[in-house]
Amino acid sequence: MGSSRGTYYSALKRIARVANSPLSLRRTCNSIAKSTARAMQANGCRILSLDSQKEYLITVGTYGLSDLYLKKGPLDARKSLPDILEGKVVFIADATKNERVQYPQIALTQGISSILGVPVLGKGEAIGEIRIYTREPRQFSEADKSFLLSVADICAVIFERAELHHLLEQDYKTNEKRRKLSQASPLPTTLKPVSFAHPSEEDFAKLLDFYCIEWLYEPRSFPLKWEGGKIAEMFTPDFYLPELDLYVELTTLKQNLLTEKNRKLRQLRQLYPEVNIKLLNKNDFLKLLAKYGYGPLGEAKVEGIDRVLYTHAQIQRRVRTLARRISRDYAGQRLVLIGILKGVVCFMSDLMQHLSIPVTLDFMAISYYGGDGQVVKITRDLDSSITGQHVLMVEDIVDTGMTLNYILSHLSAHNPASLRVCTLLDKRARRLINVPLDYVGFEVPDEFVVGYGLDYKGEYRNLPFIGILHPELIKGHNL
Ligand code: 5GP
Repeated sequence: MGSSRGTYYSALKRIARVANSPLSLRRTCNSIAKSTARAMQANGCRILSLDSQKEYLITVGTYGLSDLYLKKGPLDARKSLPDILEGKVVFIADATKNERVQYPQIALTQGISSILGVPVLGKGEAIGEIRIYTREPRQFSEADKSFLLSVADICAVIFERAELHHLLEQDYKTNEKRRKLSQASPLPTTLKPVSFAHPSEEDFAKLLDFYCIEWLYEPRSFPLKWEGGKIAEMFTPDFYLPELDLYVELTTLKQNLLTEKNRKLRQLRQLYPEVNIKLLNKNDFLKLLAKYGYGPLGEAKVEGIDRVLYTHAQIQRRVRTLARRISRDYAGQRLVLIGILKGVVCFMSDLMQHLSIPVTLDFMAISYYGGDGQVVKITRDLDSSITGQHVLMVEDIVDTGMTLNYILSHLSAHNPASLRVCTLLDKRARRLINVPLDYVGFEVPDEFVVGYGLDYKGEYRNLPFIGILHPELIKGHNL
């Protein structure tokens, strides 16, 4: 089975016209999905957009797929046909048996046999996908693939235009401070719906943005009741927070609404025990943030933080990557990790737990003296000799490089077998002495950062994230 060149030509004409229409993103993509599926004589089509962190695929247009198949939630981009996101065309002959399909049991109940997927590429990078589904097992021709790739090219332009619109809208609406914030830490994907049903939802989203907690608005509906094989009742939670794997439904204090929501939630938990969902009013929400160490009710001090630079989850991911690299480089060897107290405690503790080679640990302490506070003095030296040992100096932050330079020359004098440096943060813009850094977590801007072990006047070390201190607080201090 396959379509003629004429069919594809007419379909592309229709799709190009829709792409250039004033329809909303969702309606445009639904219409393209329909034209694409029909032209390819397929049973369903789905257009997906990748979120800004490249972790989740969000459906922006569909045709011919049942609700159950569509509402199975945001797809994990790494698990869901990652080859497509690497720019490859993927063909799956039998979706019910293929291990690359994230929800094969749903494919089975929906009678889906074959899937053809192509990447939507923007500036050479995957920004989404288009998938075609057929009920009958199907082989796709080169003409089929080439047509689908052309549709993907049109979708790329649509996605980028939607992004541009969103940015312009944001720029218009937001004040100066917020604009500064969003430049340094881009808000989550623009393809997420931005018109909230209630102002409290927008407030909630803003708080999540401040803490860089990724969110999806109303990403999934859960069927709760069926009548005669059809869905009679659904429940759509307001938010999904992927990093916490948590659905959130916001409530007001109106008792009649609350009772109804509680009933739906009880039903949802019975039908979908694996789903983690919370009903939150404003106070509950603040308490939830506090549990993760954030927010005004949190034990950790957050006032004075201008913005979050790296979330706990981002730090953990990066530390794991660094640990994997170090373990590989030192495979078959023993390693001495040396840290300078106290800023390095969080990083050292997390890093060493992910190392798969034998390590020993030692710490030094230093103080600064001299007119400008830049002369270093060792106040606590190593417990054990490092002569002939492989040494990795673990640092929280390298700023001017003066401290590290001093410490490295001190350590080299003990003739270790090798001496390398791993720093979580590299404030390269302020470097005065060019010390070689072998492993770097993040390059940070020229701002004063705190949290995750780093302090300002002894405080903020216990924040689970790394944040930028409000410049007003450190005005006049020589930092
Ligand atoms: P150096 O300028 O010698 O490279 O860095 C000296 C020390 O200054 C670092 O080890 C760190 O303790 C401190 N430091 C530099 N930049 C920052 C910063 O942004 N935040 C915090 N908390 N400490 C910093």
